[in-house]
Amino acid sequence: MKITQSKINELLTEPGCEHNHQKDGEKKNKACKQQAQPGAAQGGCSFDGAMIALVPITDAAHLVHGPIACSGNSWGSRGSLSSGPMLYKKGFTTDLSENDVIFGGEKKLYKAIQHVHKNYNPAAIFVYSTCVTALIGEDIDAVCKAAEKKLGVPIIPVNAPGFVGSKNLGNRLAGETLLEHVVGTAEPKRLQQHLL
Ligand code: SF4
Repeated sequence: MKITQSKINELLTEPGCEHNHQKDGEKKNKACKQQAQPGAAQGGCSFDGAMIALVPITDAAHLVHGPIACSGNSWGSRGSLSSGPMLYKKGFTTDLSENDVIFGGEKKLYKAIQHVHKNYNPAAIFVYSTCVTALIGEDIDAVCKAAEKKLGVPIIPVNAPGFVGSKNLGNRLAGETLLEHVVGTAEPKRLQQHLL
């Protein structure tokens, strides 16, 4: 998914939000865009919002392509409830170094995806871009596509680097990712008895 300004505007238009009913003029129907102040709060970037929305998919692996600090950013608040899989509790990151920033980290990402697949056999792998990897032009869509073809499991790029906006916007970009890459791509193996 390409993050364009029109896409961002579309995602930040929220006519159903009860708080918007009290606003007038230009602000009407606009979603909250408040960003956390550096040093005043943990987390708060779009990447963080995307992870919070997707980590509850507990049988998938969540791999962060970026410096290790992005992975640590508000880690404790990305919780979930699970009656089975606990894979979401593991933190995966490519832990980008200065060399990777200079020479590129796409090969490292591909190897990290292979490592996670081989050692943890997840139902799917979500791959998150971050500020650094987006700024140096890493093509995570292409890497995910190549890895998916090779490994035969869904490898899903999540394009919500921190600098595009607030945590709120990240939640929405995660939803768009699910619409684009997950929803409607397969049928369940069996239906619950009461649905038959
Ligand atoms: S994605 Fe950007 S804003 Fe978010 S934690 Fe990483 S560096 Fe910070």
